[in-house]
Amino acid sequence: MTSQHLPFRLLAVLVLSLWASLCTAKTLALTFDDGFNPGTQPDAAQWNAQILAALHTHQITAALFPSLARMGGTDGLGLVKAWAQAGHLVGNHTASHRSLADPKVSLDWFIADVQAADAAIRDLPTFTPMLRFPYLKEGDTQAKRDGMRAWMAKNSYRNAPVSIDASDWYYNIVYTAHLKAGDADKAGRVKQAYIRHLLNRAEYYDQLAYKVLGRSPAHVMLLHTNQINAAALPAVIAALTTSGWQVTSTRSAFQDPLYAQTPDTLPAGESIIWSLAKALDFPKLRYPAEDSVYEEPLLREAGLLP
Ligand SMILES: [Zn+2]
Repeated sequence: MTSQHLPFRLLAVLVLSLWASLCTAKTLALTFDDGFNPGTQPDAAQWNAQILAALHTHQITAALFPSLARMGGTDGLGLVKAWAQAGHLVGNHTASHRSLADPKVSLDWFIADVQAADAAIRDLPTFTPMLRFPYLKEGDTQAKRDGMRAWMAKNSYRNAPVSIDASDWYYNIVYTAHLKAGDADKAGRVKQAYIRHLLNRAEYYDQLAYKVLGRSPAHVMLLHTNQINAAALPAVIAALTTSGWQVTSTRSAFQDPLYAQTPDTLPAGESIIWSLAKALDFPKLRYPAEDSVYEEPLLREAGLLP
């Protein structure tokens, strides 16, 4: 081989290794719940713009599931519109953000609540009739769970489950408490713990998927529109990429047949991988699957609670 062939050989090696990494990369899509409330969150517009800028920089198409109760009725609609204008999928997260697992919430009431949110956001250009259940709770009784599934089928609605659940909302509470107290150092350390938490949950649900499905699906991760994500999203995306995750578009991830499954569990809901494992009687599945009660001792031990 002459030296002039070397660049071509290097190029071939690079192309092959890139191809190999694309073939083996685990994929994950980002979804954000709730929407900001400009009436109660003075920095709402800035945080919204920060999240959208991070997604734009990394050319990620995500999804937003706004709930009217969390965005001050239609006050936050302008911020939701910015997501639609940037090409992100916008779905339904109900008007009142009540849990269908609450015995006081009837099926008829819940359907009316979904319809109220639908009427408010349906005209947005990227609106997609998909429902993200508040708290990922899909009903405490079979009648409510199956009644909602039947309503969705009849009304061309799809469920928008997640495969990777996490407690970003709790890390956000701790993070913002430190910022309010003027402790930027601790807030920064909570941000690092938060990124480790997301990587840990992504890995956990991927391992569980291998046991349940025998494969790594196109994952869908649950996040929320909040201050910690406004601050940490670029670092979160970088950490995911370094750990072998390829962040893919939410629309394409939802094409994975995993998300059309209807696991037979009660109370219904949680991560869809968790639900499928539960339906198969997997041992050692905690309930709820994710919650602050699991994260609080970890942050306390690390000296990171306010
Ligand atoms: Zn929510």
